Amino acid sequence: MIPMARPLIGPEEEDAVLSVLRSGMLAQGPQIEHFEVAFAALCGVPHAVAVSSGTTALYLALLAHGIGPSDEVITTPFTFIATANSVLMTGARPVFVDIDPVSFNINPALIEAAITPRTKAIIPVHLYGQIAAMDAITEIAKRHGLVIIEDAAQAVGALFHDRPAGSFGTGCFSLYATKNMTSGEGGMITTTNPAVADRLRLLRSHGSRVRYYHEFLGYNFRMTNLQAAIGLTQLGKLAAFNTRRLRNAAFFDQHINHPAVTKPQVQPGMRHVFHQYTLRIRANRDDAARQLAAAGVSTAIFYPLPIPRQPLYREIGYTDKMPVADQMSDEVLALPVHPGLNDADLNQIVNAVNNLCLE
Ligand SMILES: *Cc1c(COP(=O)(O)O)cnc(C)c1O
Repeated sequence: MIPMARPLIGPEEEDAVLSVLRSGMLAQGPQIEHFEVAFAALCGVPHAVAVSSGTTALYLALLAHGIGPSDEVITTPFTFIATANSVLMTGARPVFVDIDPVSFNINPALIEAAITPRTKAIIPVHLYGQIAAMDAITEIAKRHGLVIIEDAAQAVGALFHDRPAGSFGTGCFSLYATKNMTSGEGGMITTTNPAVADRLRLLRSHGSRVRYYHEFLGYNFRMTNLQAAIGLTQLGKLAAFNTRRLRNAAFFDQHINHPAVTKPQVQPGMRHVFHQYTLRIRANRDDAARQLAAAGVSTAIFYPLPIPRQPLYREIGYTDKMPVADQMSDEVLALPVHPGLNDADLNQIVNAVNNLCLE
């Protein structure tokens, strides 16, 4: 079975971890700062703050911008639950705006109608590795004085024209095992604002600048030096990983030609990094998934249930209708596109898709 994801860990990561283990600096240590400096450079910003996960990155980014109870934050219904849950964690209210059916990202034409006097921020998600419509979103945020927090968990290395993901607002990245680069678990927050960076550093470590003196309520959301050693090594391989993902996607673009299957489209000016290669199946999607599994190809559905339809959100009173997100959650099917695929895998995937028998 061709898997959906496989972390590519080599002798470089093994050596990096061993050297941290032998140094005795397991928690704090120099690798964290080296990783932050390199990550900030990748995103073209002066500051990056390493944290324990993508979820804690989003939560701390919201806190660092002062978002809390009685605030509203606009985001997409078609994302991983962490995007919206980070807003709930602060006591603020997520407000959902439907997506564009071609990019799968938040539809900027629908954002302004959702803005109220309580709106403080927008969290666009760069879903599947393609940056959201940041030109229009930046314009709207400026006009209404809103903070932009990018959920760039799936988009490390993506570009819109020459601008990297994480450089349009406060950028939040995940370094979970299946993302385009990993530290096992981990997260990174990018910003051009030194005051925000300073606040983030205190928030991740109990509000403490000087040991055992605490300025405000903070957390332990630190990254370990072991994770940073893995992440720093992976960062050095990211360009090759992403090139490989783009090549795999180009192969699928060229060879998949089933009439009931719509291939993903890259929007003008975008460098998509294909965290996922997501088809739309205009027929019985779940049957297609079963047939692909029988042909040895794993698939996945990102995401089967838009966030306002999740039991947790129903429970707290959400009844939003999101027609495009609802339709996409019935049609999307992601193929393996990770850099560990070989030529035989790619051919097997293409043949399996082109041979689908769909009503
Ligand atoms: C992975 C992911 C997150 C959460 O990251 P974790 O590191 O798993 O906490 C948030 N948003 C999106 C869109 C993701 O894909």
